[in-house]
Amino acid sequence: MKLPSLNTRSVDSKDNQGTPVKLISLRSVGVGSLVGFCTFPATLGTLQIVLFSPLRLSCSIPVVSSVSGTLAVATSVTVASIASISASLFYQRLENSLATKKDTRKEISLRYSFSPVDLGFYTVAAGITFKIAGGRFKSVLPSSFFKAGAFAHSCIPAKGQMYATKKEKWLLTSLGRKYGCHTCGSRRSKFYFGDHIPPNTLLRKGEQQVFYPQCNQCSSLQGGLLSGNKSNFKLKTHALSLRLYHLYLPFPFILMAIRQFAI
Ligand SMILES: [Zn+2]
Repeated sequence: MKLPSLNTRSVDSKDNQGTPVKLISLRSVGVGSLVGFCTFPATLGTLQIVLFSPLRLSCSIPVVSSVSGTLAVATSVTVASIASISASLFYQRLENSLATKKDTRKEISLRYSFSPVDLGFYTVAAGITFKIAGGRFKSVLPSSFFKAGAFAHSCIPAKGQMYATKKEKWLLTSLGRKYGCHTCGSRRSKFYFGDHIPPNTLLRKGEQQVFYPQCNQCSSLQGGLLSGNKSNFKLKTHALSLRLYHLYLPFPFILMAIRQFAI
């Protein structure tokens, strides 16, 4: 991809990888990193709302959810990386236009690019980071109200179709505060209900049930859906339930630093 022209000083017209070399200030690196930090979870959340939810793709569909989630993470990293570099270059241009001849601010020399190889590096690095931080690719898809949700981690056995006992509710509340409601990810509930999975009304002969922690709001919505008042295809999006795996590290600048200082 052709790089936008800048008024920054060129160190070399080309480097040995065909990537133009520019000078970028530390402040512009900070601005670019912040934009990437915000863009990554925002893109993942947007994909949930405008793509997966209308297509009725939930995290509980085997294989499809993992493949879709992997593509969503790769797309979000690419968008965040391009936004990050673009914001950095825009800020750099702004700084240059305001700089005076007497300006002695320090600059560092970094090579940036939007090349497919670099974008591939950002994607692989972000995918590894996502997994190390505990992310599951399928969990970036919306939750079904009738199956284990995007935040389903730990469950407890359900003995029949009865409600959870007092002791089980206490245990489920502990799980809910740690992992969040299994459907929406909320950790702010005062207490959590024991959600039968599969639900009692959808239980097939011989199937075993478990309890997952579920917040009051999701429990009410699920109750309405099961009673047939609303669409059975309704999914729960959770764009604002952020976890550590939503953290975007500034991979473009990390690669720049590697090229600058290690190669
Ligand atoms: Zn919930």
